Amino acid sequence: MSTNTFAPRSLKSQFERKGTLKRGDTAIVVGAGAFGGWTALHLLRRGIHVTLIDAWGAGNSRSSSGDETRVIRSTYGANEFYFDLNVRALELWKEHQKEWNQQVFFNTGVLWLCPSDECAIVDDSIPFSRKHKMEYEYLNKTDLGKRFPVVNSDDLHHGWYDPFGGYLKAREATRLVLETFVKEGGTFVNSLVSPSVTGENASVRLQDGTNAGADTIIYACGSWLGALFPHEIGDRITCTKQEVYYFGVPGNAASGYDKFPVWVDADGKDYYYGIPGNANRGFKVGVDRRGPAFDPTNGDRLPQPEVLTHARNFLAHRFPGLKNSPLVESRVCPYENSVDGNFIFERHPTQDNVWFLGGGSGHGFKHGPALGELVCTSFIHR
Ligand SMILES: Cc1cc2nc3c(=O)[nH]c(=O)nc-3n(C[C@H](O)[C@H](O)[C@H](O)COP(=O)(O)OP(=O)(O)OC[C@H]3O[C@@H](n4cnc5c(N)ncnc54)[C@H](O)[C@@H]3O)c2cc1C
Repeated sequence: MSTNTFAPRSLKSQFERKGTLKRGDTAIVVGAGAFGGWTALHLLRRGIHVTLIDAWGAGNSRSSSGDETRVIRSTYGANEFYFDLNVRALELWKEHQKEWNQQVFFNTGVLWLCPSDECAIVDDSIPFSRKHKMEYEYLNKTDLGKRFPVVNSDDLHHGWYDPFGGYLKAREATRLVLETFVKEGGTFVNSLVSPSVTGENASVRLQDGTNAGADTIIYACGSWLGALFPHEIGDRITCTKQEVYYFGVPGNAASGYDKFPVWVDADGKDYYYGIPGNANRGFKVGVDRRGPAFDPTNGDRLPQPEVLTHARNFLAHRFPGLKNSPLVESRVCPYENSVDGNFIFERHPTQDNVWFLGGGSGHGFKHGPALGELVCTSFIHR
């Protein structure tokens, strides 16, 4: 989860009237993660013949969408675009989990732990939360200690509790989106793709050496986008190694920790955050501080000892009851960082039918359903 507050500019213009598709046209979407999967599903539902292609499958362990869980929260500082996008995403997640008859959204709430009286990422979102009737609850230090006794609040000023947020089951939901896409008539191809241009026509080259073309090709390749298009995207999307840890909670206090809300330590530096409880996997602690550059295809997924030690020290301080908790699982995930943390949706500079969609920057998963809808409506106006 990235807590970048971003330039508060609106991204709406990126999605306005690009429209080139009509019912019956064809589209290829490369990448079946949160961005590509949802985009493919929305296009299909608007009458486009869609082929979705992924080298390793939806929610695979190399992808950013492939971890167990992701935080969902509207809080985005002064950035109303993402607040609104999340409000729509929440609606769509709830609709779809009903359709799937499987819970993927867990409304645990999100607890912001604030060390000083100002906490811009929450404070600046308060007007939007009022507008949407999704208000946060202010907890002074005493209330915080009473309501959440497992937190050491000695060095905290207050807390904010957002009762509308929680977490999503990430890899499971990503797989469900692909299953739905196929069930509703979409075509899925399991292949590594490389971009191909013959004359004026762009197409994709599959690993068996054949080419496939379409009226529109969308590359939603997460942290691979920069390397796949070094001239067009290059360093505008970089990949960093991010670690999440699952700590075992004490046997005699498991339910207390498992029922704890999603939390974010808004210290303005490390921004440790966590998702307790999910399916008994342990007390998840994520490190938002950017890690070293990472190769998402060949990089080993081993935690770095010094990053783990730092996280353990934090855990012992903020949740003293977990001081000696064992590490029961860990995962390395790639962040697909854009330069300013904003999403990227743009046309290839020379190929009119080719588009790039990415730059989730450690916060994109929750938005998948609403972002896919936005991309789809920008292609199809009627
Ligand atoms: C540690 C961590 C914590 C995060 N926390 C949160 C959070 O709490 N909340 C939140 O909302 N977001 C969070 N995010 C961000 C979120 O997970 C991503 O923004 C989102 O999953 C990106 O989806 P994507 O579809 O762009 O990329 P991916 O999920 O990476 O999908 C890209 C797909 O493209 C495929 N692909 C790549 N190259 C090719 C090729 N050449 N041919 C064929 N297929 C190809 C890959 O196999 C992959 O499946 C976090 C990310 C990380 C790493």
